[in-house]
Amino acid sequence: MGNGSLQHRRNLALGSGAELFYAMPIEIVRGEGVYLYDSNGRRYVDMYNNVPCVGHANPVVVKAMAEQQATLNVHSRYLHEGIVTFAERLTGLNHDGIESVVFSCSGTEANEVAIQMARIVTGNGGLICTDAAYHGNSELVDSLSYVGLSPSESGDVRSFPFPERYRPLQDGLGDEELCEAYLTRVAMAIESLRAAGTGFAALIVCPIFANEGVPDIPPGFMAKVTDLVHREGGLVIADEVQSGYGRTGRWWGYEFSQFRPDVVVMGKPMGNGLPIGATAAKKEFVDAFRTERDYFNTCASTPLQAAVGMAVLDEIERLDLLRNATEVGARLANELRGRMEKFDAIGDVRGCGLFLSVELIRDGDSKEPDTELTLTLGDRLKERGFLVSYAGKYENVLKIRPPLVFSHANADEFLGAFDECMEELRE
Ligand code: PMP
Repeated sequence: MGNGSLQHRRNLALGSGAELFYAMPIEIVRGEGVYLYDSNGRRYVDMYNNVPCVGHANPVVVKAMAEQQATLNVHSRYLHEGIVTFAERLTGLNHDGIESVVFSCSGTEANEVAIQMARIVTGNGGLICTDAAYHGNSELVDSLSYVGLSPSESGDVRSFPFPERYRPLQDGLGDEELCEAYLTRVAMAIESLRAAGTGFAALIVCPIFANEGVPDIPPGFMAKVTDLVHREGGLVIADEVQSGYGRTGRWWGYEFSQFRPDVVVMGKPMGNGLPIGATAAKKEFVDAFRTERDYFNTCASTPLQAAVGMAVLDEIERLDLLRNATEVGARLANELRGRMEKFDAIGDVRGCGLFLSVELIRDGDSKEPDTELTLTLGDRLKERGFLVSYAGKYENVLKIRPPLVFSHANADEFLGAFDECMEELRE
């Protein structure tokens, strides 16, 4: 059966709006390490998927999953050593103000918990996010998605322009003044929430602004905005769903961006594919949430989540993946940066460990985003066996975010294909 008829059945079975990557979608049937294989046996280098952080079908994780499932899996209302140890290990990896954990099954759920926790702790409702953020798909969390710069002034969400140096809020400012300009926008958002009577509960951000396109943040912004939020009585929620678990070469994006959040939200890579989410904060905040909400999540905080979650952490350590992310990411970013002279379409190359972005533009003066080229390049790279995607406010940022087992050799292979595609697409 060809891809065409599978796609037709899919439209019927899942509904026509269910998104697919690439102009000619591919049917993936197997994964191993950094590689994915399609139904014709063709091998691709996976440069997109951050969930299988320790590699597709990682044997240590698969074994832990199978053994735990064959022994016990049960909901969270019994004592179980494994889940307590897993929570202790996670808090141990975080800064010392992070003491207790609420487990869930997705990034969305973990953000829901974080927002509810912030509202309970502060007694206020108002939330601030960036103008191009994505934090999840529930009704509450989706109210923070891609809100742009003018969400309803009567609601309880306000946005500020995400901090960046490539398309700065104002031209001609030094780093410090630019930082102040963004801080002023956050202060205005807080004021607006107060004026509306909602009050200010929390600022929620991805520490590396992943969905915004991994911008270069004006230095010091995150520490300064954290001070501002605290002075105004709010909490800082770090959504580590993308930036956590070694992606930046540090355990947490907040270490990379240098600030101390009050609440840490984790997801995607925690289970290498098994759904696990977590919200961590100081014990007093978690206690307040548990007292008020009596939170129960049937498939969360289970022996299975614990066994798999521990195996993932073990593998990150055993395979030295933080170092791998730092070294391979830095070299690949440098190589790509070196191509900016040769290819005018590359406006900027940014990177945090193994999360790289290549900003594609139509012309260097206007920096006009080239969304079309970004899509075409993604398709051409796929034809050459490399799977990437795009991100950013204008969908013109090539997003390179492979499993953390991505090697120098994989990077070299990719660079060859990248050069060929860019040459081909040059007019
Ligand atoms: N936060 C961020 C920063 C994300 O990118 C995503 C998903 N892309 C989520 C939260 C939501 O996670 P999930 O899809 O597991 O609900």
